Amino acid sequence: MAKIQAIHTCGHTEEYKIAGRKNEAYWQSRYEAEACWECRKAEENIKAQLANQSNGLPALSGSEKQIAWAETLRMKSLKSIEQFIDDARKLGERQGVDQAQIDEGIGKLQAAADKIKGVALASWWIDRRDHTAQEFLREALTRG
Ligand SMILES: [Zn+2]
Repeated sequence: MAKIQAIHTCGHTEEYKIAGRKNEAYWQSRYEAEACWECRKAEENIKAQLANQSNGLPALSGSEKQIAWAETLRMKSLKSIEQFIDDARKLGERQGVDQAQIDEGIGKLQAAADKIKGVALASWWIDRRDHTAQEFLREALTRG
């Protein structure tokens, strides 16, 4: 196990353990072509925050660290919820379910999704980081 020191594009230096001596140069140039993990993570959080803002979502409350993390979680979760609702509608149509019935069901899911979108507590999103779209929607529907 060889160790290399890579200077990332963000200026941070990180040490990495590399298996296989001949891979050292490869990993060195790969690591040095990108920002370090923490800087990439921070950039991802900022991008999520901007996207959430422009989608009209409420500003999150919590510690600075919680908010940064929750922005990315919130974006991913809402995306999967939207996808789930879209899939549910398509499935209903494919199965020849009555359109009025589909609209009613989708309307309920949309209302639940809107409730979820309104949650501004960073810790709420962090607690549910492993939730599937179905779990989010079920919780919102049963909370009434
Ligand atoms: Zn960095």
